[in-house]
Amino acid sequence: MDAGMDAWVVARPGPIATRPLERARLPVPTPGPGELLVRVEACAVCRTDLHLAEGDLPPRRPRTVPGHEVVGRVTAHGPGAESPPLGARVGVAWLRSTCGRCRYCLRGAENLCPESTYTGWDADGGYAEYVTVPAGFAYLLPDDHAAETLAPLLCAGIIGYRALLRADLPPGGRLGIYGFGASAHLMAQVAIVQGAAVHVMTRSQQARELALELGARSAGGAWDPPPEPLDAAILFAPVGDLVPPALAALDRGGTLAVAGIHLTDIPVLNYERHLFQERTLRSVTANTRADGRAFLELAALHPPRVATTPYPFGAADRALADLAADRVEGAAVLLP
Ligand SMILES: [Zn+2]
Ligand SMILES: [Zn+2]
Repeated sequence: MDAGMDAWVVARPGPIATRPLERARLPVPTPGPGELLVRVEACAVCRTDLHLAEGDLPPRRPRTVPGHEVVGRVTAHGPGAESPPLGARVGVAWLRSTCGRCRYCLRGAENLCPESTYTGWDADGGYAEYVTVPAGFAYLLPDDHAAETLAPLLCAGIIGYRALLRADLPPGGRLGIYGFGASAHLMAQVAIVQGAAVHVMTRSQQARELALELGARSAGGAWDPPPEPLDAAILFAPVGDLVPPALAALDRGGTLAVAGIHLTDIPVLNYERHLFQERTLRSVTANTRADGRAFLELAALHPPRVATTPYPFGAADRALADLAADRVEGAAVLLP
């Protein structure tokens, strides 16, 4: 009997036009101690997958299966793993493990753990029929939602939520969002539900229309100044050149959080225009499990509209190419 599965691997990291992803037939993984085996129902496509495929994030092991926004069902337990039970619906996200002992883990900042490992980078991810996950790092998900709309919550949602927390948006404040892809469209909705005035800056006309539909106060071009000063801003576009205009758009005391794992170089800043008056520039590094659970609870309470573009499993390479060319509205999701 063939116990193999279909998967995609990063075969030769490089520009997306050189086809870095390759279709592969792999053995179904065996869950290790404390791990679950999960049958994949849907896997969303994240910009980080693109950075891994293109080599912006250097591979940590050869021919790794990307994908870290996985919705699936538990189909087996590794030694010592007992819950969630067989058949339970779980989410597998970017943060795969932490040491649990270092100063960062002990103070509740496990996202900074130097020993942390990541799904689809240190271990095979969800561009496959099956994936394994340490049970303590799987999120329980509701049964009554489509897998396609749950998948983007697992990175676009939970890391976007950490970016929103890091942006220190005051109650009823003015939030600027630079770039309007999967993560941004979810965080705009969270901020609006919480009473914020949201201004979106993005080069895509289609994304500007979606932003206004979702309740943004304004939607302009990527380089346009927002119509009012901002208390907080999040840079979702991986474009360092946008840091100075985003800082310049902040009001006194405002904070800019850079959400991405990869950013092109930031140009020289002018202290007076970009930082003085106690403006703050911050990065965002992954998320803690507490962030993830808090966001998923919020999403269950106020389900966001999740814009998705579905792709058949066999079209993962096309999904990444479309993401690279900004041709995806909302989140691309692979459906096996
Ligand atoms: Zn991601
Ligand atoms: Zn640690």
